[in-house]
Amino acid sequence: MSKSALFYQTGVDLPLVSHGEGIYLWDTEGTRYIDACSGAITCNMGHQHPAITAAMKAQLDQVAFSYRTQFESQVAVDLGDELVALSRGHLQKVFFVGGGSEAVESAMKLARQYFFERGEPQRKRFVSLSPSYHGSTLGALGLTGYEPLEKPFKDLVMPSIKVPSPDFYRYREGDVESHIAAVLEQTEAAMAAEPADSIIAFVLEPVGGASTGGRMLNRQYLEGVQRLCDRFGCLLIMDEVLSGMGRTGEWFAWQHWDIRPDILALAKGMGAGYYPIAAIMARDELVDTIQSKSGFMHGHTYAGNPLACATGLAVIRAMKDEAVLENVRKEGVYLREQLDWLKSRHACIGDVRGIGFLQGVELVQSQSSKQPFPAEFNAFNKITQIAKDNGLLIYPRRCLNGVLGDHFLVTPPLNTTHQQIDEIIALLDQSLTEFAQTLPDKAI
Ligand code: PMP
Repeated sequence: MSKSALFYQTGVDLPLVSHGEGIYLWDTEGTRYIDACSGAITCNMGHQHPAITAAMKAQLDQVAFSYRTQFESQVAVDLGDELVALSRGHLQKVFFVGGGSEAVESAMKLARQYFFERGEPQRKRFVSLSPSYHGSTLGALGLTGYEPLEKPFKDLVMPSIKVPSPDFYRYREGDVESHIAAVLEQTEAAMAAEPADSIIAFVLEPVGGASTGGRMLNRQYLEGVQRLCDRFGCLLIMDEVLSGMGRTGEWFAWQHWDIRPDILALAKGMGAGYYPIAAIMARDELVDTIQSKSGFMHGHTYAGNPLACATGLAVIRAMKDEAVLENVRKEGVYLREQLDWLKSRHACIGDVRGIGFLQGVELVQSQSSKQPFPAEFNAFNKITQIAKDNGLLIYPRRCLNGVLGDHFLVTPPLNTTHQQIDEIIALLDQSLTEFAQTLPDKAI
């Protein structure tokens, strides 16, 4: 256990990491952990992947850093081309940044500058969902709908127009279709209440992560949002920081429906935990409009440096070589079946949702009432600690605006095998049994 100068959210003493291999991590005491959440849904190719580390070492031997106003690098050009190809040519322009919040901020600023250059500077507002997570910097936090993260900074951020996310688990009106129709109607009314031509973009995660526990939007909803964007003349920004880069079984989650964003934010899986690299992708018309005027008034020092881009390129190549998307599609179905099986065995599991290797498990007091656990019971942290004590890493958060609705994500590396899923499920089964034994009477 370490006592150090470092501080994060919790102040809890953590084990010291020693090394990793594939989906496993070891601490310095020799304890092994299965990384069933890819760290923060990031280590998409597992740990110490030999082809990725070799490509990084080769780049380090050549040049680690060159600045984007002084040099272009071949690896940056190649990575840009790869990403455009993965979007099947729909998004033709790429701008590199270092992480997810930077990507979201960059998407917001690109969208704003596009309208500014077009002579529509009155467009100032974004629309986003509640709950949602778009990052922790002030701009991205303005889009985020997760109460505990927003609270201390409410007076500082520029809040978006928050509209309700569809809730496929707790909706009350009739069937799913009528629920979605009602949500879209409410959304349209909220947008219509704003001054004319004042909205820059609608921002959403097509498959949610930490804030919703893997809530997957559907075609009806996304088509409705697309119609609203058309009606209000605004752009559609998809935040695929978490859902992008193969996590759902497509390179980008929007490809499940072919409902296309104007701007896409990518991060986490791009560098797969090996080096920070993230990006926004955009339609060329947006970028051309800006570049023909003053150029994009934005940028970060480390953006698109050769080591970052070599890493991103090596990750994509390894993903292709090992056909991990096929693995996610096939084994994602198995992972889901197994989680549903756990739901049939453990009364505390209310819902299992998601797609591919982006699965969320929501914990409730009873499956019939869907009643969340009391906040002070901290079910999300409790189950995560029990799992960790059993050598299994899962990712906990809350899905009712961060206040209630405990859930955890099961998001293993995309090259996790069938047999390794069995290992994950066995440890989760054991952990859920132990969790049930901790339930106070009032929470059962
Ligand atoms: N958007 C989404 C959907 C995310 O999941 C995250 C990170 N969890 C972010 C943005 C912010 O990314 P970062 O932590 O790299 O700034």
